[in-house]
Amino acid sequence: RAKSAGGNRAELADPEADARAITRHGLTTALPAALERGEFFIEYQPLVHLGDGSVRGAEALVRWLHPQHGVLGPDRFIPLAEDTGLIVPLGRWVLEQSVRQAREWRERYGEQTPAGPLRINVNLSPCQLSHPGLVQDTVEILERTGVAPDALCLEVTESALIGADDDLLKPLRRLAEMGVDIALDDFGTGYSNLANLRRLPVSILKLDRSFTQSMQQFPADPVDLKIVEGIVSLAHSLDLSVTVEGVETGAQAEQLRILGCDTAQGWYYARPGPPERVHHLALADATN
Ligand code: C2E
Ligand code: MG
Ligand code: MG
Ligand code: MG
Repeated sequence: RAKSAGGNRAELADPEADARAITRHGLTTALPAALERGEFFIEYQPLVHLGDGSVRGAEALVRWLHPQHGVLGPDRFIPLAEDTGLIVPLGRWVLEQSVRQAREWRERYGEQTPAGPLRINVNLSPCQLSHPGLVQDTVEILERTGVAPDALCLEVTESALIGADDDLLKPLRRLAEMGVDIALDDFGTGYSNLANLRRLPVSILKLDRSFTQSMQQFPADPVDLKIVEGIVSLAHSLDLSVTVEGVETGAQAEQLRILGCDTAQGWYYARPGPPERVHHLALADATN
């Protein structure tokens, strides 16, 4: 609007943009106190094995219970936390809470869940990846909680690792050597060179939701089917397992299972929710 009004004229105020900016600024300045006051909480979304339908673990997804604005999703505040560096202590908090939750599942239900002890997936932002304390913080949290490294999977987005040099990959390699799984999140959105996968210390590909969405129509677009089939066979030949996100219907789950995907996550199984829901679902399998 201001542009079409011509070069030298003052830009028209956009009240909506102002409101957004105030909120953004307000949210940013409120973040540190929010962490201290315990306004963040974590929801867990089950990860389901496509072959037998068993719950294998869950992804931890952070939320902010803001005193004025209610529950805010991570897309509203993670970018702000990244800009201010608060993502490092916030991410550490998420990691510790999630690993504690995994320990509780394993202590209380380890023997009862049919597919073995539940595992936990935690998202890492690029800032955490380049923070020198990552490996030590992770080791300390695992030691403090007594959780085995192979119960933990750290999710890093494909875009964070595109063009990553060895310095950035070193901490991930150390963690992978300890037995922590590294997953490449939102895979297929970052235009990364598939051959590049060999260089990365990842053991899981998380296929982006956009692929799952294209399985919604029946019959699905044959080109999309071929692409997913190709990614899955490449992943398997590199010994990577494939998780699909955003599964909303049984038809999608079936299609993705036929295409060879290993694990699924999505509203069809469960929305992100309180930790009790994950172990209820995991235990429910046992009786089916
Ligand atoms: P993500 O890691 O790709 O997580 C999956 C997102 O898809 C979650 O959104 C989840 O609620 C949503 N989702 C799951 N199943 C379905 C489905 O069937 N349909 C649809 N439409 N959506 C589904 P959410 O919770 O809003 O998280 C968004 C992103 O925020 C995450 O994407 C992740 O990148 C980031 N995030 C979440 N928690 C953390 C955290 O603790 N640290 C960092 N650094 N990032 C986080
Ligand atoms: Mg994720
Ligand atoms: Mg994802
Ligand atoms: Mg995603």
